[in-house]
Amino acid sequence: MQTNISKQFENNPAVQEAEEILRSCVHCGFCTATCPTYQILGDELDSPRGRIYLIKQLLEGSEVTEKTRTHLDRCLTCRSCETTCPSGVRYGRLVEVGREVIEKKVPRNFSERLQRSLIRKIVPYPGRFSILLKMAQLSKPFLPGSLRAKLPQKGLLRAVKVTSQKRKMLVLDGCVQSVVTPATNQAAMRVLEKLGIELQVAPKAGCCGAVSHHLSEQDEGLDFMRRNIDAWWPYIESECEAVISTASGCGAVVKDYGDLLKLDSQYAEKAKRVSELAKDFGEILAKEKLPEIDKQKVSRKVAFHSPCTLQHGQKLAGLVENILTGIGFTLTYVEDSHLCCGSAGTYSILQPELSQQLLENKLSSLQKEQPDVIATANIGCQMHMASKAGVPVKHWIELLDEVLS
Ligand code: SF4
Ligand code: SF4
Repeated sequence: MQTNISKQFENNPAVQEAEEILRSCVHCGFCTATCPTYQILGDELDSPRGRIYLIKQLLEGSEVTEKTRTHLDRCLTCRSCETTCPSGVRYGRLVEVGREVIEKKVPRNFSERLQRSLIRKIVPYPGRFSILLKMAQLSKPFLPGSLRAKLPQKGLLRAVKVTSQKRKMLVLDGCVQSVVTPATNQAAMRVLEKLGIELQVAPKAGCCGAVSHHLSEQDEGLDFMRRNIDAWWPYIESECEAVISTASGCGAVVKDYGDLLKLDSQYAEKAKRVSELAKDFGEILAKEKLPEIDKQKVSRKVAFHSPCTLQHGQKLAGLVENILTGIGFTLTYVEDSHLCCGSAGTYSILQPELSQQLLENKLSSLQKEQPDVIATANIGCQMHMASKAGVPVKHWIELLDEVLS
């Protein structure tokens, strides 16, 4: 695709990167076939190809309106289009740049700004998020049914006795997961301990930066990333083998730290090293020899939902499914498994109607073969699906921990 980027972006490295991405698109439209919003809305401007055109116009200096911003807002950033694209168009990065530019050109009204600001000021901070959750739990009987269903149930906590091991890895505790499902990382610690690996948590690390980043507050997102790098660096300098994420959404962002901080002279090298060490929990397990498992314990039928951040973002489609079937679980067939469940970071709050429609479609495919449990690999998807599913929704590491115990 030819481009003629406006002179106003002459010294903007992000826009230069976006121009390169725009030029790699050959406008074939293959990506429209796997775009969830295009499937639901049927409007070319709600497809990847349409949005690429809108971003091109925006960066070429054409007039843009709230309508343009709405089409970009409706994108889930699920990156299903990237998996389908034969030309390797990095759509996820392109839409980030497009959103950052349009946020400044078409400012939001007061209530939208307030909503986004509240999300940014609460969600990435476990202390604040925990207080909000407790208040919501206390007022649960008075909440409307739709909101009540969204309140997460805490997973069962079992004490973990961490013993020192020769092999050490770091785990990202993150923000929402550490409050809502701390059982996930506890399970990860127990599983890795059986393999002779000690999972460490850096107390000063926190949100991976995704919340701010996805709300087009790039500088704020980069500050979260720098904070994590500072917190992890002493561990990395000593003996830590990997920086593990048990939430695929956070893992996808940590793997991008190197790219996102490449222009920061103070952090670029460290960020690159962190990204090299960043691994999804599944990538670690795939390389280890798992202990023998009592086959009777794996009799449950499992429907696995592969989060977009795992299959499209980290390009790890099939990895967890292979681990689960390898140890004896029966996985059901899930139709349209490439499509998003509608959680998509803050999407379920900001685009509730589309998000609910995607959730209903997802649960209907996942529950078609009547599984005993739905398993997934990301806290956002887990909470979103648990709000309406007819069976328990767990992190797959918890299933593994149960059968290894
Ligand atoms: S993003 Fe890829 S699949 Fe979509 S129109 Fe461009 S080249 Fe074709
Ligand atoms: S990221 Fe997902 S929703 Fe957005 S254009 Fe691509 S496929 Fe469609």
